[in-house]
Amino acid sequence: MIRCPRCAGVLDARSFTCGGCGLDPAREAWVDLEPTDTVESYFDPLEFRYRYGAEQRHYWHRARREILLEVFRQRVPPGSRVLEVGCGCGHVAGSLARQGYRVWGADLSAHALEWAGRQGLERLVRASILQLPFEEEFDAVCAFDVLEHIPDHRQALAGLARAVRPGGQVLITVPAHPRLWGSWDRMQRHVRRYRDTDLTDMLREQGLEPVLVRQFFAALYLPALASAVFDRLAGGAQRREPPFELHHAMWDPPLVGRLAHALLALERQRIHQPTRARGTSLLAVANKPASASVQGEPGAPSRSSASTPHRSRP
Ligand SMILES: [Zn+2]
Repeated sequence: MIRCPRCAGVLDARSFTCGGCGLDPAREAWVDLEPTDTVESYFDPLEFRYRYGAEQRHYWHRARREILLEVFRQRVPPGSRVLEVGCGCGHVAGSLARQGYRVWGADLSAHALEWAGRQGLERLVRASILQLPFEEEFDAVCAFDVLEHIPDHRQALAGLARAVRPGGQVLITVPAHPRLWGSWDRMQRHVRRYRDTDLTDMLREQGLEPVLVRQFFAALYLPALASAVFDRLAGGAQRREPPFELHHAMWDPPLVGRLAHALLALERQRIHQPTRARGTSLLAVANKPASASVQGEPGAPSRSSASTPHRSRP
């Protein structure tokens, strides 16, 4: 179900128009639900032109994409309806679409969606992760390296959990280890990094059942730790990184890039196994229980117990 952002009535799933209040969002390349979030102000339109190319080529992004595709191959049946929130320029969503998933992309930034429009997605929606209009709509809902940007990440996760149907899955990646905090996080405008337990607890708070929470990008852990220690010694915590610094940090020297990509992409084969190895990123896959009464306390009368059990879409 898709809710009207203006009156909370039910939107027509095809036209996105609202019979209640008459909302008729502009939709050419994407449906514009006109989010009221102001995070947009820190995204520079020119930055996306740069990001589109960098995220396509850079070893970190290529390796992460291959790992995520492997996670989907093993856990999400082809043809599933997938929503990627914070899809940015849409490289991950586009890769999933080319694997046969029916992918919707959502992002706060119109500039990002302009680029994502090249990826052949089923639908693009301009919406805030804090005001997602979807209820039990998708088989899988994902946010890859998004929550660490959001001050109220619990509300964001609640929106993701709401958007997935009972029996569906939520897939998340975030940066791992608060101790690795450094200039990279400031450049990317992160507000935090995560312990495994932080993410597990948050997923459970939303009634989700974590089935896999593990770190990856083990090869980057020691370099990242060294960089974070150096950054702290240099008093970096007080520094504000100008956005153009990001361009230098995303530098991808051909030989080193190829080596780094090979090393990181190796983890793809074992991504389904829990590991104690430390890595710079954290992956979580969680199931939304098929019973509709996950919000109720065990034994307590549940609000939803009187309603008919939810059935997945035909
Ligand atoms: Zn309405």
